[in-house]
Amino acid sequence: MSRPSPSLETPLLQHITLRDKEAPQKIRKLQRCFVLTGKRSMHYNRHSLVSLELIGESGVGEILITGGAGYIGSHIVKRLLEKGMQIIVLDNLQTGHREAIIGGTFIQGDIGNERILSEIFGVHEIDSVIHMAADCLVGDSTKDPLKYFNNNVSKGIKLLGVMLKHKVKKIVFSSSAAVYGNPPRVPIEEDFPPFPINPYGETKLIFEKLLEGCKVAHGLQYISLRYFNAAGADPDGRIGEDHHPETHLIPTVLRALLRKGRKVPIYGTDYDTPDGTCIRDYIHILDIAEAHISALEALHAGVESEIFNLGNGQGFSVKQIIQAASKVTGRTIPVIETQRRPGDPPILVASSEKIEKKLGWSPRHEKLDEIIDTAWRWHRTHPHGFRSSSLKKGVARWT
Ligand code: UDP
Repeated sequence: MSRPSPSLETPLLQHITLRDKEAPQKIRKLQRCFVLTGKRSMHYNRHSLVSLELIGESGVGEILITGGAGYIGSHIVKRLLEKGMQIIVLDNLQTGHREAIIGGTFIQGDIGNERILSEIFGVHEIDSVIHMAADCLVGDSTKDPLKYFNNNVSKGIKLLGVMLKHKVKKIVFSSSAAVYGNPPRVPIEEDFPPFPINPYGETKLIFEKLLEGCKVAHGLQYISLRYFNAAGADPDGRIGEDHHPETHLIPTVLRALLRKGRKVPIYGTDYDTPDGTCIRDYIHILDIAEAHISALEALHAGVESEIFNLGNGQGFSVKQIIQAASKVTGRTIPVIETQRRPGDPPILVASSEKIEKKLGWSPRHEKLDEIIDTAWRWHRTHPHGFRSSSLKKGVARWT
């Protein structure tokens, strides 16, 4: 199915006077755009004017992706590269993997380091940012809220500060369904009042408020994508989910099949849901990646700043996921029922109507079996995650 791209037919026409002191930079920037947009016509006239016409898919320039070595980030990076976009990945590799970044420019560093940020924005012609770098575990956030507020809020403020200083005013932010807390009903619409019930959700909501404040004060343009449960892997098998420790349901289920004696804990069977276990909306990682392309293109086409849910619109309980994984893998999943995990809301299912209407995005890989199958392919071929390939060569140890 083809999706309308807001800027697909829109030529970017720029007129630059060569007498303009900034002309060389502007031209360089436009030429970089040309690399990714594919078509250009360039005219010099006798008044030393240069007019560059850029016609292409996106009109997007160089993109900084913070946290691009993580599970979701690396799939976005891959998709951006496939679209021919120029990217710079900034990641401190605390939870991400160098091997997960399959191209572009990689810089190892922390988003809290203003010196590195200033260098990056000073050297590169960045015109938009995808901000993914964050701590993202609900349970962990209830145990160490300060870490979450520091990494997800304080450091994010530094990033915004440096961006604005360098006049970079387009940002796609990875937010979360955790901002909703216990929604009054499902599917959840974006205008439901947010009431996060864990520090992780709080940090995401606070950052959204910061974005709004910077929009009003400084003309920042943002799209905040509230992810529901990212799952699956790129079908080409090069990248996938590799967390240490792994706490997410689908990889935990699949890993249990690859390690003798592991059982999947079912956190709570007494929720007010049909089978007593929590219900979530699992969205294929490829659909998430595609939504970022749509968001970037929309920002460059001048859409208003917006918050969108990013989900499949279907809910599956923990027990349904285990059943589906059993069907896909042809194996019985060993489970153990245990107490509730702090901070878990019973049901989170997205309404994706708004993003469909405004950005033309809709999920293409919505079948649960497909999601689990691609994840299974990755885990089966990488039982030790990204270390699997080096383990084969005998240079790394499983810890
Ligand atoms: N879950 C579970 N056992 C696990 C991991 C997760 O029962 O080993 C449950 C968890 O309590 C939640 C759902 O599965 O209700 C999805 O959890 P996950 O950590 O994958 O994502 P979250 O919704 O917390 O972002």
